[in-house]
Amino acid sequence: MSTFRTLDDIGEVAGKVVLVRVDLNLPMQDGAVTDDTRVRAAAPTITELADKGAKVLLLAHFGRPRGERSSTQSLSMVVGTVQDVIGREVMFVPEIAGDVVRQSIGILRPGDVAILENTRFWKGEEANDPELVAAIAANADIYVNDAFSAAHRAHATTEGLAHVLPAFAGRSMQAELEALEKALGKPERPVAAVVGGAKVSSKLDVLKHLVGQVDHLIIGGGMANTFLAASGVDVGKSLCEHELAETVKEILANADTSGCTVHLPYEVVVAQEFAANPASLRTCNVHEVDAGEMILDLGPSAVEALADVLKTCRTVVWNGPLGAFETPPFDAATVALARIAAALTREGSLVSVAGGGDTVSALNHAGVAQDFSYISTAGGAFLEWMEGRELPGVAALSH
Ligand code: ADP
Ligand code: MG
Repeated sequence: MSTFRTLDDIGEVAGKVVLVRVDLNLPMQDGAVTDDTRVRAAAPTITELADKGAKVLLLAHFGRPRGERSSTQSLSMVVGTVQDVIGREVMFVPEIAGDVVRQSIGILRPGDVAILENTRFWKGEEANDPELVAAIAANADIYVNDAFSAAHRAHATTEGLAHVLPAFAGRSMQAELEALEKALGKPERPVAAVVGGAKVSSKLDVLKHLVGQVDHLIIGGGMANTFLAASGVDVGKSLCEHELAETVKEILANADTSGCTVHLPYEVVVAQEFAANPASLRTCNVHEVDAGEMILDLGPSAVEALADVLKTCRTVVWNGPLGAFETPPFDAATVALARIAAALTREGSLVSVAGGGDTVSALNHAGVAQDFSYISTAGGAFLEWMEGRELPGVAALSH
């Protein structure tokens, strides 16, 4: 990973106009914010800059307005939440460039915070249009990117601005990059990856990259069925991508050459119908799945074997639940292995990094989220990082 500048390198900001790209794409219901996690993640950067006397202008997108103003997607709706979280007044500016922004900056005092309008109201945002970039930059002195979750997009406010203004990583971006570097950049070995979730097809590039990086690849979830089927196991009516058999064999062959041990489940939890606590529920060896059954979770002995693997490791990076965790009891394996990883992390023998939308829900459900070394809420950007890709928003901060 290349190096990047942080707020420690930013110098004097008193009286300067600092554009801070944050993630304010908040979950909402009936016009009210239902979860302020992303605002809390951005708060340290906002308050640090404001406390140093900067005029802080927040830039963010919300939803997919596709280059047009939309009254239901205005960032004016999140002003109250941001005020509550950072504990100071926040001004709303219904533009991102031009005279209105310039006049608003004139009203702001050093240490004041404003939110500019949804960047995706302008077509130039997603097109990374140099004219829009120049117009936004014209009102500002410094650019700070604190939105790792948007760093896989080369948009005007996630990438373009970093080329025309002095650019720095915010505290949340910094924490994310440092955690990911520890997990996959220069990890302490042995390192294990846990990859689960529904489908191999959605994570092919992740699997291909990981086999060259990690010592142990633990496969769970629906994608384990595809691996098992490719290895000649009859998985009954399990969710399975039979057409990917050749691809899976290639991945297994590459793992072999790279010295990566792939762990597939040998014991599974099956049922004839997908429902909570079904009457047909049973645990069996992978070779004993009936034609009318589907694999919905890993069995307890399989989880114990995986726990033994984690005990020999110093680092684990985890994406994807091991079973259909939303429906009990198919959450059991995910919860059990997550608790093992959490305990090893508490003992100081394991660095544990996890990410992915459903993975974060599953770890919260297991009650271990606070025990992991780092949990990324970045979804798409986290997966692209696991694919070994350079994220444009991060690359633009490097020097
Ligand atoms: P993430 O959002 O963390 O990247 P995914 O979206 O890839 O994770 O996968 C999560 C989904 O995979 C969950 O909805 C879960 O129910 C499903 N899943 C896991 N194991 C199975 C299985 N054996 N059969 C069907 N679905 C499964
Ligand atoms: Mg998901």
